[in-house]
Parts: sequence; structure tokens; C-alpha cells
Amino acid sequence: MHGMIGWDVVLGLVILAFAIPFIFLSSRMKQVRLRALAVQQESKYLRMMLRELENHVRHDQSLFLESLGVPFLLMRPSGRVEMANEKAAELVGVESIIQANLLRMLPESELKTFLQQACNSTVPVRADVAVELQGVPRLYRATATPLETRERHVGIVFLDVTEEHRTQVIRRDFVANASHELRTPLTLIIGYLDALIDEPEVAEDAAIRQRSLGIMKHHADRMSRLIADMLTLSRVDSPGSGYLKHEEFNLCRVAEDVILRLKPMADEQKATVNMEIAPQPFVMWGDSFYWAQVIFNLLENALKNNPSPGLVVSLRATTDEAGARTITVEDNGVGISPEALPYIFNRFYRADTTGKIKGTGLGLAIVRHAVEAHGGSICASSTPGERTVFTIHLPKQSVE
Ligand code: ADP
Repeated sequence: MHGMIGWDVVLGLVILAFAIPFIFLSSRMKQVRLRALAVQQESKYLRMMLRELENHVRHDQSLFLESLGVPFLLMRPSGRVEMANEKAAELVGVESIIQANLLRMLPESELKTFLQQACNSTVPVRADVAVELQGVPRLYRATATPLETRERHVGIVFLDVTEEHRTQVIRRDFVANASHELRTPLTLIIGYLDALIDEPEVAEDAAIRQRSLGIMKHHADRMSRLIADMLTLSRVDSPGSGYLKHEEFNLCRVAEDVILRLKPMADEQKATVNMEIAPQPFVMWGDSFYWAQVIFNLLENALKNNPSPGLVVSLRATTDEAGARTITVEDNGVGISPEALPYIFNRFYRADTTGKIKGTGLGLAIVRHAVEAHGGSICASSTPGERTVFTIHLPKQSVE
């Protein structure tokens, strides 16, 4: 048996032959597994970082979009929204706006037509688009810019131009109305002047001449009143123009002055004008000239629209505990019809169609603008034949 390798050695060698690679492999595998674990952890970490970065970008993007302050949309040519801010969602009336296809979702409207044009165009598109926002009509100036991205995105910005448009319309109407109102008396004056110049029999007849001069004076006075009212209105209608003084005054003094100026008219009509102002002195801040105009126009309106005897006009002013003021002018005259009531503060609006009552139609427009320029508001209510009340609300003034 000597010289022969024993079975146990052979077995040992065989086991060794298998075990060595196994040990080697298993240690390798362990290394690989550890490496894989490390890679897994690293990738988890990277994924987390990526998510965090994405959140950052999204947050910054939304901060940027919201801070724009105007509705903004980024769309694909298909109509699908890629980016939008809250204001844009509100404007188009779609809550979950991201990824929504506006060209498919929106009903036929000016907005949809514009978006269609914007998505189909390779050049910038601009238009004024009328939109109803929470039931209120508004006008937006929309500008769409095609972007040079692979997806051919289009960026759209909307600017609210409702106020600008409203002012433009008011200005246009004002010029048209003012020209019309001025042209009427001027045409009459020119007519009478022509007659006096071209027709000797008119100029020579003292009675006709006198009557013509009287009519010309009447119309010239009307033009002068119109121009004075237009100037007052344009001054009080220019906020921040420096026309409005800011000083302390006693409303009682102002009202007494106005009532004194209107006394001859009130006496002639056998009307009574009462004043109940408390506390005394009734101290206010602002421009007393315009408050005098407000009180004058309201009291004069009550008187001139009710020439029959027995009219009672009451001017009242009170202050509540919070310092807010209420000023009312009430009369028991003919009143204002419900059809006319919504328009009486409009420029050049006159409810009287008889032409017998003097006026420019600018009196209440001046009143409203003067009150609003002082931070207040005015409204009117009327039960024809019973009573008409103009009520001014003035919040506590910040300077007090
Ligand atoms: P006007 O210069 O014609 O007086 P206003 O703007 O002051 O113009 O008033 C508009 C219209 O409102 C008047 O034409 C008048 O018909 C009506 N109105 C104003 N105040 C009264 C009132 N107290 N009673 C009846 N009608 C009034």
C-alpha cells in the first residue's frame, strides 16, 4: 500500500479542486453583490436627487409663472397645454389645465378662435379677445409667439385691457356728445347772426333784433355752462393730477354757503331747504370747492326738477362710531322713473325731455366723480311722486 495515494487524499484533492473555485467564486459573488448594492443605493440616491431637482425646477417655474401677474400659456400646436399659471386657468375656465387640449375642450368663442390661430401660425399673432370672467365681461389683449423648439411650442400672454378700453369708449362718447351739445347752441347763434348780417329788415327792426340778441345770449350762456361743467368734470376725473386739494374744512360752512346761493330760487318756488348736520363742526378732509359743487348740484337738481310750490329738500350728514360719513339729499318731488334711474349719473344724460329745465346733463356725473375722488360712493333711490334720495357714503378718511 506504500507509495499509493490514499482515497482520503484523492477525495481531499477532489474536494479542494471544487472548493477553490467555489470559494473564489463565492467571494467574487459577494464582492459583486456588495457592488450591486452600492450601485443600487447610489442610483436610489441619484433618483432622489433628480426628483428633488425636478421639484426645485417645477417650484421655480411655478414661482416665475405666477409672478408674471398676467395669464400665460405654453401650448403645443395640437392645442395641448404644457405650461400655464393660475391666472391662465382662471381665464380659460379649465381647472386642471396642464395637459388639457384646449382646442378640443373649449366651446366656440373668441378665445378658442384666437388659440386656433395661435396654434396654426408660424408668426406672432395679436388680438383683443373678449372673455367672460366669473360672469363679468372683460377684454384681453392676447399675444401669441411661436417658439423655435422641436415641438414648435407657442407662448401666449394675455393683458387685461378692460379699463383702458372702457376709458377709450367713454372718451370717444364724451367728445361726440360734447361736440353735439356745443354745436346745437352754436348753430342757433350763427343762424341768428347770419340773419342780422344778411337781412337788413331783421337788423333794422328793433323788436326782432332785441329778440334775436336775447336768444343768442340764452344759447351762449348754455355753451358757457357746458364748458364750465366739462372743465370741472375733466379736473375731477383726472386722479393724481393735483387738482384736488387736501385740506380740513367744515361741511356745515360749505352747505350754509350753498343754501344761501340757492335761497332766491327756493324762495321763488316756495320751497323749503332743511339742513341737519351733526356733530358740529362737521370736519372733513378734501377739496371744499368740489364738496360745495356736490351739495350745490344735488340741492339745485331737487329744486329745478320740482318747480311746483311746497317742495321740501333735506340735506343731512352724520358720522358713525367708526368715523364713516353718510350725507343724504332727499326731496319729496316728482322723482325719477325706474327706467331713467340707472343712467342719471352718466355724462350728458337728462331724464327731462321737455327741454324746460335748464341743465347740461353733467351735474350728477360731476357729483359722482367728485365723491369717488374723495374715496366715497353715491347712489340714488326714488319713489316717483313720493321721495328721491341721493346717499353718499364716505369711509373714515385715513388722514384723520
Ligand atoms: P342736469 O344738468 O340735466 O340736471 P344731472 O346730471 O344733474 O343733469 O341730472 C341728470 C338727470 O337726473 C336730470 O336731467 C333729471 O332729470 C334727473 N334728476 C336729478 N336729480 C333729480 C331730482 N332730485 N328729482 C328728479 N329728477 C332728478
